[in-house]
This record gives sequence, C-alpha cells and structure tokens, in this order.
Amino acid sequence: PVLRVAIMGLGSYGNRVAEAMQSCKRAKVTGVISGTPSKIKDWQSKYGIPAKNCYNYENFDRIKDNPDVDAVYVITPNSLHHNHVIRAARAGKHVICEKPMAVNAKEGQEMVDACNKANVKLLVGYRMHFEPKTLEVIRMRQAGELGKIMFFQGLSGFRIGDPTQWRLNKQLAGGGSLMDIGIYSINGARYMVGEDPVWVTAVETKTDEVKFKEGVDETIQFQLGFPGGAVASCLSTYNMGNLDRFFLNGQDGFAELQPATGYGPIKGRTHKGELTQPHYTHQTIQMDEMAGIILDGKKPVVPVDGEEGLKDLKIIDAIYLAAKTGKKVDLKL
Ligand code: NAD
Repeated sequence: PVLRVAIMGLGSYGNRVAEAMQSCKRAKVTGVISGTPSKIKDWQSKYGIPAKNCYNYENFDRIKDNPDVDAVYVITPNSLHHNHVIRAARAGKHVICEKPMAVNAKEGQEMVDACNKANVKLLVGYRMHFEPKTLEVIRMRQAGELGKIMFFQGLSGFRIGDPTQWRLNKQLAGGGSLMDIGIYSINGARYMVGEDPVWVTAVETKTDEVKFKEGVDETIQFQLGFPGGAVASCLSTYNMGNLDRFFLNGQDGFAELQPATGYGPIKGRTHKGELTQPHYTHQTIQMDEMAGIILDGKKPVVPVDGEEGLKDLKIIDAIYLAAKTGKKVDLKL
C-alpha cells in the first residue's frame, strides 16, 4: 500500500515536499489544507487532487471522515504546529510535523500525548535521518571505526533576508535562528555522537537589535555535554552565509560533512577517505521511509518520532535558559 498524505501549508517547503513526492514509490499527495483558495486550485491541477480532499484551517477537522487520507503533513510556521498536529491527531490521522516540532517542550509533550491518545503515529520531518552519507558516518561510529567519540562541532546558519517574514516574528517562529537552523546542529550532535546530552551551556550575541527583536535570537553558541564524556560545540546564526558543517572526532578517526544538512548533495570525508554514497532528493527518501514506518512499523536507524522531536525541544529550552542565565543547565532526556 501507499501512504496517502494531505499537505498542510502550501508554502515554500510544502511545495518542495510535494515535488519530491512525485518520485516516491510508497507515498502520494492526495489532499491539501490551505487558507489560500488560489493555491488549492494550483495544487489540484498539478497533483490531481479532487475537491473533496481540499480543506482550509477552519474546516480541516472534517478530514476525519475522509478515507483518501492516511496522514497529514504539517508544514506551517512553527508556533502553529501544536494546534495543527493535535487537531490532525484528533481527526484520527497519522501526523508528520516539520521541525521544530513545537516552540517549547511543554507544547511538544502535549502533541506527543495527543497522538498517543488518538492512537496515531507522530513523526518529525528530520530528512537527514535518511541521507546516505549521514547514515554511513553513523554506521562507522557504531562499528567503532572512529574509536571513542570525544568531540562534535556543528555550525548551522544563513543570512536571513526580508525582516517582515514569519521567521523573524517571535509569535510565529517561537524564537530565532536556534528554532529554525540551529536545530540541525542540536539534532546532528545527537545522531553523530550517538547519545543524548546531559548538560548545556550557551552564549547569545546580537549585532542587529532592529532586525532581531526581543526573543528572536540572531546568534547563539552552545555546548552540549554527553554522558560518555564527549562535548559538542555548536553555532547557530541568522547572520552568516552558508554555514553548514559537521565535524565528528573520535580517538581513532574523524568524519566531516560540508554541506552537512542542506538539500544536497551532502559532501564529506572521513579519515578513510571521501564519502561516495549517492545523492537522492532528501524528501523523496524521507517520505518513502516514513511510509514504511507508518504502514509497516519499520524502525529507522535514527528515530524520527515525536519523542525524538521532544528531546530537541527540551535541549532548545535548556539552551535559551543557559543563554539567559549564563549558567550551565543540567538535562534529563
Ligand atoms: P513558508 O512561509 O514558505 O510557508 C508557510 C506556509 O504556512 C505558507 O503557505 C503560509 O500561507 C501558511 N500559513 C498558514 N497559517 C499561517 C499563519 N497564520 N501565518 C503565516 N503563514 C501561515 O515557510 P516554509 O519555509 O515552508 O516553512 C514551514 C515549516 O517548514 C517551518 O516549520 C519550517 O521550519 C519547516 N521547514 C523545514 C525544512 C526542512 O528541510 N525540513 C525546510 C524549510 C522549512
């Protein structure tokens, strides 16, 4: 069987996902949820979506009665994920939610609970968890080829444009660069080191108080301490171009990826040489694999479930707290 997906939020990333899904073997766009009738029309003709599978934000709870949709993919601004995921779950649909899953751990927990209660699966759009070069580095680390892991460096950033966009609006974004792009270094630190951090320290710096208002971080540097002794040192920013690099160091070897999380192709090498795994469109593999997880109960190498999304939100909460207080924050994930 094929996973039939309704896309919610027909913006830039929603369009990218739907394009990529045209090459999926196991997933198909069968519905849309949007507040803009003209976009719905375009999608209907492009993807052959019947009017009965089209919803807006007021009436989408009715998707409950639609047998053509197995899952809703929430691709709206961050602070709306909470309401959108909980309503999709209550409508009895599996939910895929974009990163960050929510804007804080409290909301994330409520989403996990709502999906458990409704007996539907909750997955987070962590596309790197299916990327071949990333998976090769994880395999090498698991096989002990890097030796004991001691250090990770994650650099995630880009120079953000239009000051009026939702990403720079605390109400919709929930924060700044950390929520949007720094989360790649947070999540990456965890899947590269292979552990969950037990402490966090952080320093925030801001050079443009007009563009980056109160509660919208421009740049945050943070450290994550892991139970095995490894430390991750990471940078998240909205004010440096093309910053996308991971470096993992063990006592016997290293791996570096640059770009590490962009749409690809990912490039990298280890102490053993270049990584040569093929590039596939991330969202195509992601959606085929997620169909396997939802329909067949397949287990991914790195989890992509709500608990995984919630861990990153707990770390984000801790980083903001550490940056604000200047103190080390202990974590229990
Ligand atoms: P976007 O602005 O291009 O699209 C957002 C969509 O949400 C728009 O179509 C907009 O009309 C709609 N929307 C619904 N209610 C809204 C409201 N009240 N206010 C504003 N917009 C509203 O943004 P995007 O880049 O597509 O990002 C959407 C989500 O996808 C974000 O959570 C983002 O973090 C995530 N994302 C993930 C990746 C990835 O690689 N996994 C990449 C880009 C974006």
